[in-house]
Amino acid sequence: MTQNLESAPYQSLRNEIQNLCRNFPNQYWRELDQTRSYPYEFVQTLTEAGYLSALIPTQYGGLGLNITAASIILEEIHRSGGHSAACHAQMYTMGALLKHGSETQKQRYLPEIAAGKLRLQAFSITEPEAGSDTPNIRTFAQREGDSYIVTGHKNWTSRIAQSDLLMLLARTTARENVTERTQGISLFLIDLRDIRAQQPNTLEVTPVRTMFNYATNQVRYHGMRIPADSLIGAEGQGFRYVIDGWNAERILLAAECVGDGYWFVERAVDYANTCVRFGAPIGKNQGVQFPIAHAYAQIRAADAIRYQACNLFERNAPCGAEANMAKLLASEASWAAANACLDTHGGNGFVAEYDIERKFRETRMYQIAPINNNLILAYVANHVLKLPKSY
Ligand SMILES: Cc1cc2nc3c(=O)[nH]c(=O)nc-3n(C[C@H](O)[C@H](O)[C@H](O)COP(=O)(O)OP(=O)(O)OC[C@H]3O[C@@H](n4cnc5c(N)ncnc54)[C@H](O)[C@@H]3O)c2cc1C
Repeated sequence: MTQNLESAPYQSLRNEIQNLCRNFPNQYWRELDQTRSYPYEFVQTLTEAGYLSALIPTQYGGLGLNITAASIILEEIHRSGGHSAACHAQMYTMGALLKHGSETQKQRYLPEIAAGKLRLQAFSITEPEAGSDTPNIRTFAQREGDSYIVTGHKNWTSRIAQSDLLMLLARTTARENVTERTQGISLFLIDLRDIRAQQPNTLEVTPVRTMFNYATNQVRYHGMRIPADSLIGAEGQGFRYVIDGWNAERILLAAECVGDGYWFVERAVDYANTCVRFGAPIGKNQGVQFPIAHAYAQIRAADAIRYQACNLFERNAPCGAEANMAKLLASEASWAAANACLDTHGGNGFVAEYDIERKFRETRMYQIAPINNNLILAYVANHVLKLPKSY
């Protein structure tokens, strides 16, 4: 697909996702939110329709779509009032496997992922002592014959209980023994089914309740033995492979924020037009309409950079600046829209049945994760504006 956004393939993709999402109305997401439950039915439906394999090439049974199309899928899920946190990792982890995985790994896993028989939903990077400073991770994979033995602690590994496969970042050479701190880190693709069947005690998963419905966990690896052929690419190069995937991740999450933003604006406009106070719709007041209009303008601007980033990405051109700025601006825009929408609804904004407070909690995350906006600003300052690095 080319990047003519009005073209029939993109429009029909949007329509298909909108139709699919109609079966999962806000009430569905609200009930799951209240019980902090995973949206199994939604993810199953999306998988069966093939959309979670959007970025898997057709030769492996995927849809072979480009990043623009993948981002439209996530945007529309959010624009419908849903949340794709339950499944988006399958899209953005794909780059590392496609670009750096061996042909054997691709043949072993991709067709089954595309067929919906295997789930690749978990990505285990962040650690309590490292946070955003990824090269400071301590989880260690020690080579022992045909295996690696993994020991360590990750404080945010989402969806591991809902995944068959796990991507794990671990040190294979101690920090003290490498000259460059980003070296000596390796990426692994691990079959959790084997671990659960043969050595369940080596994998300790503790669910973490968060501000919104997110299936995330603390994970401890207690000497977990994995086959040496779980390694993706070359040993010690994993940090670079992860960085390679960051642009796609930024773009896809920017699209989720854009979807949230449009959802908030649509809700705010509807309410502003229908709620009558002092004999007129509240939307007649500039104090009500200006924040909505402002947020809308912010969303449109973020959306434009998101498509610029997609376009560069698809041409294999450098897109770090655009992908990062898209995520920064989109997360700020969705937050501005969330606040405008909540204010427009007055007290009703706090009532669960309106779904505003749920989406408000959900969209707040994007300023912090998967990368916090301070580090994006640092990226723009250092890499685009060539200002000195502050850390
Ligand atoms: C709901 C949720 C799900 C997640 N799921 C996953 C997952 O599946 N897998 C995974 O690996 N991770 C996951 N994460 C972790 C996420 O990627 C991190 O939260 C994120 O990278 C930020 O790291 P941190 O929380 O450790 O913040 P820290 O790095 O501890 O930063 C704390 C604060 O300090 C600021 N700060 C830090 N360094 C600098 C600096 N140099 N300059 C300016 N400011 C700075 C930050 O802006 C932030 O405000 C998840 C997080 C959340 C919230």
